Amino acid sequence: MTAAARDASRVLVLNSGSSSVKYQLLDMREGSRLAVGLVERIGEETSRLVHTPLVGGTGQRERSGAVPDHAAALKAVAEELDGDGLGLDSPELAAIGHRVVHGGLRFTEPTLIDEEVLAEIERLVPVAPLHNPANLLGIRTAQALRPDLPQVAVFDTAFHATMPEYAARYAIDVTTADAHRIRRYGFHGTSHAYVSRRTAELLGKSPEEVNVIVLHLGNGASASAVRGGRCVDTSMGLTPLEGLVMGTRSGDIDPAVTFHLKRVAGMSEDDVDVLLNKKSGLVGLCGDNDMREIRRRIDAGDQQALLAFEIYIHRLKKYIGAYYAVLGRVDAVVFTAGVGENAAPVREAAITGLEELGLAVDGDLNAVRSGEPRLISPAHARVAVAVVPTDEELEIARQTYALVSGREYD
Ligand code: AMP
Repeated sequence: MTAAARDASRVLVLNSGSSSVKYQLLDMREGSRLAVGLVERIGEETSRLVHTPLVGGTGQRERSGAVPDHAAALKAVAEELDGDGLGLDSPELAAIGHRVVHGGLRFTEPTLIDEEVLAEIERLVPVAPLHNPANLLGIRTAQALRPDLPQVAVFDTAFHATMPEYAARYAIDVTTADAHRIRRYGFHGTSHAYVSRRTAELLGKSPEEVNVIVLHLGNGASASAVRGGRCVDTSMGLTPLEGLVMGTRSGDIDPAVTFHLKRVAGMSEDDVDVLLNKKSGLVGLCGDNDMREIRRRIDAGDQQALLAFEIYIHRLKKYIGAYYAVLGRVDAVVFTAGVGENAAPVREAAITGLEELGLAVDGDLNAVRSGEPRLISPAHARVAVAVVPTDEELEIARQTYALVSGREYD
């Protein structure tokens, strides 16, 4: 490692989707965010870049007009950063950290990217057809821009790699499962890792000492059971379709529903895929996937919105109960992501009735709006209930920085 690389403390985090790139530039020595932004609708005429520098006092900037591909998107991002004196050619930049959705069985740690790693991420495309190709595109584009810079892949599946075989395997024919790498991988791992660690901090303990149930409730939603800092079960599976009721995804469902739809309703594989991933969950149940709108409708007496909410909460409760049983002893149940951090009625409804498990929510604490990690259980409760805002970008930057500099960041 060169002296310059040792001193460099900035990390650019890239989250590349099929038609969008989200980015953040962080300084890991200062513990500060320098810029955040998003390029959306890549490949369309109406692409848009929104860039917000967080140092220097200049405000948010927007560009619109066609951004044909990821290379053009990243070039535009580089120009915006350059305009703030934060250019990608700065010797301060230590590495680029990439979110990669599927790491399969092989990638269980943040990984320095080389050709062989890229080939393996490519081999995983059949199990993550929507995500891994976009992630690869982002990596290749960033490599072209700064071929000399370490590029690190941080995998959504990695945190769940510690699941025991009996939690990770489906009860299907082993030969078929192994031939097609069918097993439960889990997703949102970067968030579950970050939130479970921050929860231990909130309790004044080390991660090894605590057992936590993490409820990541965003538009996508997943639960995990974390024992002593290691994931032992999670609700998403081979793909992010399994588990909780989500904004547009069904979560758990009898697989026979899919045969039935094909045989009886004449739907194709793709129709069923779209139905379960895009037209189910809250949106399928009541036409809205935004919890704010659903609560507004419930307050106005809308029975369809109420039933959707009840189904959502019922599934959530089942997972809390299941993971309580998996862990045996629970120190905290923690809510995170858009719904978990903001929707007090969801937190209250999910915990109500679980008093016998030592779980309760204090109404006043639950009503507090804050961006800080906080307890919402009554004082002296047997099990803590907490809200811990997630920060996947910070976690990717932290893991990237630790890998390239050998230094930890807290
Ligand atoms: P995420 O995927 O983590 O960005 O979460 C997005 C979801 O969070 C939205 O679809 C809303 O359902 C939910 N959400 C965001 N803000 C609020 C809020 N203030 N109250 C309730 N739900 C919210």
